[in-house]
Amino acid sequence: MGFQLAGLCFTDAEGIGFQHDLGLAALSYLIAVSGSYASLEMIERFRGASGSRAACWHGASAVALGGSIWSMHFIAILALRIETPLTYAPAATLMSLLIAIGFAALGLQITHAGASWWRIVGAGVTVGLGVAAMHYVGMSAVQFSGSLAYSPGRWALSLVVAVAAATTALWLSSTLRKTWQRAIAALVMGVAISGMHYVGMAAAVFRLDPSMLAAPGLPSGPVAVAMAVTTLALILCALAFVAADRRVLALAARDSNVLQGKNAQLAQANAALELGRRQFGAVLDNMSQGVCFFDGSQRLLLWNRRYAEIYSLDPGTLHAGKSLADIVSDRHAAGSLPGTCAEYLTWRDQVAGSHERSNTLAHLQNGRVVEVCYQPMPDGEWVATIDDVTERRQAEASAVFLARHDALTRLPNRAMFHERLNQAIGMVGRGGQCAVLCLDLDHFKLVNDSLGHPAGDSLIQAAADRLQACSRETDTVARLGGDEFAIIQTAISGPGDAERMADRIIQAFHEPFDLDGAPIRIGISAGIAVAPGDGASAESLLKHADLALHLAKIEAPGGFRFFERAMDAAIQARRMLERDLRDALARHELELYYQPLITLETGRLGGFEALLRWHHPARGMVSPAEFIPIAEETGLIVAIGAWVLKSACFQAESWPSDIRIAVNLSPVQFRNGDLIAIVREALGASGLRPDRLELEITESVLLQDTPGTLAALRQLRGMGIGIALDDFGTGYSSLSYLRNFPFNKIKIDQSFVRGLQNDRESKSIIRAITGLGQSLSMKTTAEGVETVEQLDILRQEGCTEVQGYFFSRPRPVAELHTLFGAFHGPSHEGDPQARAAAHGPASAVLAGQ
Ligand code: C2E
Ligand code: MG
Ligand code: MG
Repeated sequence: MGFQLAGLCFTDAEGIGFQHDLGLAALSYLIAVSGSYASLEMIERFRGASGSRAACWHGASAVALGGSIWSMHFIAILALRIETPLTYAPAATLMSLLIAIGFAALGLQITHAGASWWRIVGAGVTVGLGVAAMHYVGMSAVQFSGSLAYSPGRWALSLVVAVAAATTALWLSSTLRKTWQRAIAALVMGVAISGMHYVGMAAAVFRLDPSMLAAPGLPSGPVAVAMAVTTLALILCALAFVAADRRVLALAARDSNVLQGKNAQLAQANAALELGRRQFGAVLDNMSQGVCFFDGSQRLLLWNRRYAEIYSLDPGTLHAGKSLADIVSDRHAAGSLPGTCAEYLTWRDQVAGSHERSNTLAHLQNGRVVEVCYQPMPDGEWVATIDDVTERRQAEASAVFLARHDALTRLPNRAMFHERLNQAIGMVGRGGQCAVLCLDLDHFKLVNDSLGHPAGDSLIQAAADRLQACSRETDTVARLGGDEFAIIQTAISGPGDAERMADRIIQAFHEPFDLDGAPIRIGISAGIAVAPGDGASAESLLKHADLALHLAKIEAPGGFRFFERAMDAAIQARRMLERDLRDALARHELELYYQPLITLETGRLGGFEALLRWHHPARGMVSPAEFIPIAEETGLIVAIGAWVLKSACFQAESWPSDIRIAVNLSPVQFRNGDLIAIVREALGASGLRPDRLELEITESVLLQDTPGTLAALRQLRGMGIGIALDDFGTGYSSLSYLRNFPFNKIKIDQSFVRGLQNDRESKSIIRAITGLGQSLSMKTTAEGVETVEQLDILRQEGCTEVQGYFFSRPRPVAELHTLFGAFHGPSHEGDPQARAAAHGPASAVLAGQ
């Protein structure tokens, strides 16, 4: 190379000048850079490896870096143009190589562990000092005729250059990871190595001394060439190695990607399989049916939770491969086989033998009913689904039962009653007789209204039991609805049998019913029709028995009536009466009659009882006993009662102020309509003093002993109105009523007065009632006094007031003045008998008017 560079031309005042061949200098830099690059590439691999692989990469990168430092040095020495021949001392030369490789190995080891700044600086210092150490040991191996010295300043500068550039190169290599970026780091490392060398050469002072003989050594030119070639070969090898490794890694990465892909596919397939398995399991376990699947050798393959549940099997005892025989024996122990194990297996073999799908309804020993659908498969496997239909069957059975029975009493209902009646009438056609008894509880509505529907239901159930107890097994006791019952009495010899049964029933109902500890009395009325005489069809027989019942309720409540042909007409007449009564008030057909109430002590008129009369346009006078029940049934009594109150108060207001007016009230008026308001209205409109009004109620009002009834009575009393208990002795005559409510007056029923002269019991009863009245400070009024003898006895027994035909029948308003004259006048004071005798009415009565 013929050109020289001034920068690489070194002289010293004391030494000889020398120059560098620029081409070789460039080659030396190239070797340093390529060695550094190979080394940095290998460091990367060293970083990512472990074990012997890491040791290999470490060693190779140290050899590449150390070798390139060393080789660069000797190529650079070859580039030296100096006037004296140079040789190398082999030992120092070798030593310089080892130093270069050793320091490189140490520096690379430091960076390998991490990329912290102090590690990079530590490694940079180590590599930089290694470069310098190699250089100066390598320079010590140079032999020539003379001596070599160094300028200290430049010497130090060479160290600084080496350390600074090496540190920078290592920092770059740790942060820049791409190949071309690593090339930048290699260029800087090349600067570290070459820079140190040339600054170190600038520090060198060669002094020639011909007297000093150069020791024999290795010739510098061939050594440098050999070194350069070897080093380049080494570097190329290392780079090829790195490239091969990179390729291997890329392939490995690709393989690993492929593997990962396959693994992912496998995982996906597994997940899908697991999901499917779980879904299948969930479907199986949440089926309402039990499922089992057996293989050809009768071993269990698959089953669900419901299968174990339906057959009461312990799920823990079921496992794949369990034999059918073992399961059948478990089912037998659990009571979930329809019969014995042998019977079951025989049945199953039959089913299996048919090779066809089959459905079987099995009644298990534990009472459950299952529907089994058996499905055979071609190779002897079979699957069965099991449905527990127990509840469904029970519901069906119950629906069938309820279609023909009454839910409350479980007695046959109207539909079944008709079927049975038709059957019974069919038998009648062959010469027998049968009876239909229609039955109805008396005043059942009161129990329902006063004690509530649950109590009413209990009473109906108890009544049903009693009716069944009174009938034979061959008879049919049915509930037709509400408190209506009916009995078909079959194979009777005549109406006498039916009469005896009706008697038995009525007697049985004399006993009180026990409703939650409270004794309740309720009567029953019956209507009887006997086939074939009273009807040849079920409809007519039932209709006639019902008609008889209707009349029994009107005419003989608590008793029975046989059907008679005339009843039809009576019922028709009653229906017409009902229709006419609706218009009676508007047509002014109703009128009030007044019957005097005589105070026994004074013989004077105490007041009048208002008694309703109906002037029927066609039938004439209709008795209240006949039309008041109709008015109550239809509810017309509310309007009629209000009219009575208003008219009576209005009338009484015109009477002397010591004369009271008694008005009868129906229980219906307490239930419907605002009684208090109606009374207030009547008093307000008439101006009658409340203490002149007396309201007569019967025990049936108190039967509906709701808090509302008693409250209304108390309110009326609070207003100053008198309250009388009418017809005492006929109904329940419960003394508790007298205790619960402070009546002003007890009216003794006329049936006792009527019997006074003949039977001792009536007298005793009257004595008891008057005694009761005295002790409870209540007045006692005897109704229906017709004779002077009755009057005498009543006076003796301490009765306070009397009323009856003996004094006067009930009279229209227009005739009242005679009664005032007779009983309110001044004469015959204290002697009602004398008054009655002296004045017309009583004598007229006695004369039979
Ligand atoms: P009651 O309240 O017990 O009235 C007494 C009944 O006995 C009256 O019958 C009266 O005429 C009758 N009587 C009075 N003295 C004698 C007698 O010496 N011998 C006989 N044999 N009978 C006598 P009446 O007027 O037929 O009334 C029957 C029932 O009708 C009354 O019995 C009462 O419960 C009811 N009633 C009458 N008017 C009304 C009314 O305005 N409203 C309501 N809710 N019921 C009424
Ligand atoms: Mg009365
Ligand atoms: Mg009465």
